[in-house]
Amino acid sequence: MDISKKDTKILCTIGPATVEKKILKKLFEAGMNAVRINTAHGDFEWYKEIIKNARSVADLPIMIDIKGPELRIRSNEKYEFNRKNVITIGFNAKHPIHFNYNIRSNLKKGDIILIEDGKYKLIITKVLKDTINAISDNKCTIEPNKNVHIPNKKIPLPSLTKKDIKAIRFSIKNNIDYIALSFCRSKKDIMNLRKRLGNSNIKIIAKIENKEGIDNIEEIIKYADGVMVARGDLGVELSPEKVPLAQKHIIKMCNEEGKLVIVATQMLESMINNPNPTRAEISDVANAVLDGSDCVMLSAETAIGKYPVRAVEFMTKATVNVEAEVIPTTDKEDPCSPKKPSISRVIASSVSELCRRLPITKIICLTYSGHTATQIAKFRIDLPLITVTKSSQVKRQLMLYYAVRSHNMKINFKDPDSVKILTKLYKEKKIEKDDLVLFTAGLHTLHEKRTNTIQIHRISDIYAYSKKKERERKRKE
Ligand code: PGA
Ligand code: MN
Repeated sequence: MDISKKDTKILCTIGPATVEKKILKKLFEAGMNAVRINTAHGDFEWYKEIIKNARSVADLPIMIDIKGPELRIRSNEKYEFNRKNVITIGFNAKHPIHFNYNIRSNLKKGDIILIEDGKYKLIITKVLKDTINAISDNKCTIEPNKNVHIPNKKIPLPSLTKKDIKAIRFSIKNNIDYIALSFCRSKKDIMNLRKRLGNSNIKIIAKIENKEGIDNIEEIIKYADGVMVARGDLGVELSPEKVPLAQKHIIKMCNEEGKLVIVATQMLESMINNPNPTRAEISDVANAVLDGSDCVMLSAETAIGKYPVRAVEFMTKATVNVEAEVIPTTDKEDPCSPKKPSISRVIASSVSELCRRLPITKIICLTYSGHTATQIAKFRIDLPLITVTKSSQVKRQLMLYYAVRSHNMKINFKDPDSVKILTKLYKEKKIEKDDLVLFTAGLHTLHEKRTNTIQIHRISDIYAYSKKKERERKRKE
């Protein structure tokens, strides 16, 4: 399969089905662009093995998913209940069935408790001193460590667990590229995580999985580096029919801001057990691309599924087939508005305008922090966006954005030379002689971070020019 034409990025959750190098390589060849490690399962030794194996395949971006304020039910064994049975639930290990946090003061008679992705529904009948009583709405099985949802309730759980804090330190030490923050509720959760990251450049993906996250979506998008539409938990918290519009709405807002947006969960769910996806699943993946997502994710399909490589192959086909129909984003803000404009935003908007009017074949963006590249990527111009960066971490981080092909180069970022860079890209076969490229960078500036230039070059001309310069230099020597 020719994956070089794929613009949508595929994030694969790695688990027992895919941890081996041989399989990771096959996933990569099928179109995987990044690896997610879900810290809900496994220990740090196991994460190290995933990282080592993934990095032996390619310099792939790695995302560590931390669990944040997640409510769970704990029990020592499996308990079965019939309809209308009364179940007693405590708040510590003294009780055979208990929650992982003491949330007693937040509960009242009549509240609904959903267990295991909403599979079982309990209704609270009594709130007692150390426990609650609830009746099961139907037959119900309680197994250790299943997730719990209490819809429409703000429960002030701490933002990070002990394991999350350990995972943050682990991420810094292991040069991880992204941390995904589960159940992100507001900018406060992001700021709290950002503080713990210190001067590390790890990017934060806010997972939107409950009503609070939806209610505060604007500030979350502003403070996070990217957002994940975490449809699994969101579907339980909001109810499934609310998810499609929430997805479209979140994607649109992220596109307007140039923030990374990932659609996740159940995308090819039936492939956990079957070699072929359903038509509905293929449509779902394609629609996520048409909605404007940068990246689509596989969870159990690749972590524990029977057909992980086929799942990535199907995802690649589903995305590539619709990419030509992705509608370019238009600039929400008038670039000439009297409000103080950001130079890189206006440059990005001009890049999209130039690509509409000229037969440009590739965009080259020299970027220090990656910011200008993300601002260009948001326009969904139907062309490869080749980013050139100094840092290998920024290079990996950019690999998750739509249409980006990223590279790092050892060049002088303070005074970069477009001829040298383009010649190098040509020699490395990233661009060809008949390409007409749009080159953007910060030239002649002491501040590496300031993009200020757009140049348009025919690569055949650049190549002839650099040959001539080389001959002249040799003659002088
Ligand atoms: P999870 O998050 O896989 O970590 O639960 C994704 C989701 O809830 O959709
Ligand atoms: Mn979740």
